[in-house]
Amino acid sequence: MAANDGIKTEGPRYRSRDRVRADRTDLLYKDIPEGETLMSIKDLHVVYKTDESETTAVENFSLDVKKGELVSIVGPSGCGKTTILRCIAGLLQPTSGTITMGDKLCTAPGSDRGMVFQDFALFPWRSVKQNVEFGMEVAGVPKAEREERAMRYIKAVGLENFADSRIHELSGGMKQRVGIARALVMHPAVTLMDEPFGALDAQTRNIMQEQLTRILMHSERTIIFITHSVDEALFLSDRVVILTKRPSTIYKVIDVPWERPRDRASPEFTKLRRDILEYLEDQNVMSDDAGVVSRKKPKKGLGLDRFKNREEPKGRSETATSATEQSPEEKQN
Ligand code: ADP
Ligand code: MG
Repeated sequence: MAANDGIKTEGPRYRSRDRVRADRTDLLYKDIPEGETLMSIKDLHVVYKTDESETTAVENFSLDVKKGELVSIVGPSGCGKTTILRCIAGLLQPTSGTITMGDKLCTAPGSDRGMVFQDFALFPWRSVKQNVEFGMEVAGVPKAEREERAMRYIKAVGLENFADSRIHELSGGMKQRVGIARALVMHPAVTLMDEPFGALDAQTRNIMQEQLTRILMHSERTIIFITHSVDEALFLSDRVVILTKRPSTIYKVIDVPWERPRDRASPEFTKLRRDILEYLEDQNVMSDDAGVVSRKKPKKGLGLDRFKNREEPKGRSETATSATEQSPEEKQN
């Protein structure tokens, strides 16, 4: 591990002076302004060693995640995306490099980093509502408040008619919505999503992306979103980090300047998507399962540089255009 003088390792998670509630870890970082660095990942390097082989999965990966942004990490299968996310979640120790949030070094799992898993990881014997309430139960939130908050998020993901259903009665898309509601209801300081829509059919996937967009428009969230779809990344993100093939290192970071909700059929959306895909295809890095890649020869200097000096995208509160949707944001704080 790199030197970390002066940085606290995982300590008491809830310092009394912070007066935060165990079910709102975003409040731990309330003094960090919107748009400032909330999480800093420095020189991440991960080597998997077995008796026979060594695989370098991640090399020199550094990224500052800003408070309130959705940053997606895009790269081909096997390039090291899950490895990066597992390090951030504290589930895997990097070979070297550090992950810090505020003045805390993240070396173990913590409830300030909420995870949405690709395989849902729900409790099959509990109902939808009981799954969403689980974290609040552990944190000791009173029953009435728990139920009210759970129902707000269950509505936000469109499952209000299934609140009492058992998990086995749900489709894959519905299960994933439960997983998202369960993570978001806890207000983790950072939500980690590992290809959460990867297993869904195209139509359900689009619906889920739209629902997540609505949540983003009404609720300040910091999200690290892993995907191998350029289309999904451009639809959802404030910034898109494009990785190279394994060992993954950052090829380029693109600021996405458009307000939400986005129109994936708009000329500028299709053009940027095509530019990125053409580049990636040219590099033999990846293709996009969400659509057809233009076969024409990529031009030199694909124009991705034009985003270099853009102003930062506007904050989410400014971009919210529809106030008619039920806001899942906490009202009591
Ligand atoms: P991605 O999520 O981008 O598909 P992963 O982070 O899962 O990629 O894996 C990156 C590389 O590390 C792959 O080549 C994979 O085979 C290898 N890898 C992942 N986990 C392990 C492990 N536990 N032991 C050895 N190699 C691993
Ligand atoms: Mg993966």
